[in-house]
Amino acid sequence: MLQRFRPIFDRHSHVSVYAALEGSPNLSACEDSAAALNLMRGLPQDRLSLVMGWHSGRLPVSDADLAGLPPVLLVNLSLHGLRLSPAAARLLQDTDPEVVERHSDPVWSERNLDLLLALYGRTAGLTADKLERWIQGLEALGIGAVEDMLLTGTEAWQTMRTSRWADRMPWWTVPAIFDTLPAEAQAECAGLKCFTDGALGARTAALGEPFLSGEPGLLLHAGEALKQMLAAVHSRGKALAVHAIGDRAIGQALDALEDLEGQGLRFPSVRLEHVQFITEAQARRARDLGLTLSMQPNFSGDSLDYADRLDQTRLARNNPFRMLIDRVGFRPGRDLIFGSDGMPHGLGAAARWSLFPPFVGQRLSLEELVAGYGEAPGNQPWREVLIEEATRSVRVLQGFPGLR
Ligand SMILES: [Zn+2]
Repeated sequence: MLQRFRPIFDRHSHVSVYAALEGSPNLSACEDSAAALNLMRGLPQDRLSLVMGWHSGRLPVSDADLAGLPPVLLVNLSLHGLRLSPAAARLLQDTDPEVVERHSDPVWSERNLDLLLALYGRTAGLTADKLERWIQGLEALGIGAVEDMLLTGTEAWQTMRTSRWADRMPWWTVPAIFDTLPAEAQAECAGLKCFTDGALGARTAALGEPFLSGEPGLLLHAGEALKQMLAAVHSRGKALAVHAIGDRAIGQALDALEDLEGQGLRFPSVRLEHVQFITEAQARRARDLGLTLSMQPNFSGDSLDYADRLDQTRLARNNPFRMLIDRVGFRPGRDLIFGSDGMPHGLGAAARWSLFPPFVGQRLSLEELVAGYGEAPGNQPWREVLIEEATRSVRVLQGFPGLR
């Protein structure tokens, strides 16, 4: 079945990180750990390489594996969690001693994710050429605009604002980086992002119950500290985006936002990012607060990828789109918006996980999916997507209808 769509607006990605990493070695196509190690063994011996696309569950890497590698900074697929080869640790010892010392502590890594992302961006560097190539990649996938949820710094801002997509890349950042930006950049900033928990990949998402391996997950702040932090963010006058994956983190964020609301502190708008394990009761509270849920349909695939750490009941509760839309009344494109987090980009993967999800409660129609992303500005030409029920595959076709 062929369907037409206008290029979409990816509401959650990481432009200044991903575009900087454009062309970096990537493990996502590796079949197993042996293939991943083989790829990394071929990297330069004399400088630091940033390696992307590492799925810690699918491609386990041991200390002994790392010891034989060139200088490698190995970044988890979710960008939460990294490994350094001993050769990389030696190279970073002078410039980033704290990273070298503490990077394998998940609590430290989660609390310093902004610092780590800036390090990834700095290691790779964002040039105009890289950004243009990255934008062309998005265009090929049927994306016409994208939000950067975590600008890495002034250098990235300068590169992005001179690109031809400058007005199609609204960007957010964390308060610590916001405070380092020039006033002109601060004025352009779409909003501020705060984190309340980690990620499934690093077993640091804060779910109601521990992971099967016993890890409890990680709340980044105590309840009272979160309220104070959000009140401080409020004083900057920007929109707010709150990263919360697990129901424990989502509950804490809702508590804090209800409390601020009670004090009369209202943000111009508030988005909750990811909310993969939001419960129905929490969804109703979010709706009553007028919050927007910013979710990633491709993360429905986590229900297969993370069967090693979550039980079936929990896997089935991931990305409960039918509950949100049918029972609580969230509407795609209004208060339920979609993005990819770059894992991966494009309507094809999002549509595959929406139309053929692991659990029925995760299903979205193509209309709901496209509405949740929204059309990119600029009345861009129609694209076509080919949906094959038999093989449960979805493919965005290259070229424009009428030109073939
Ligand atoms: Zn993200």
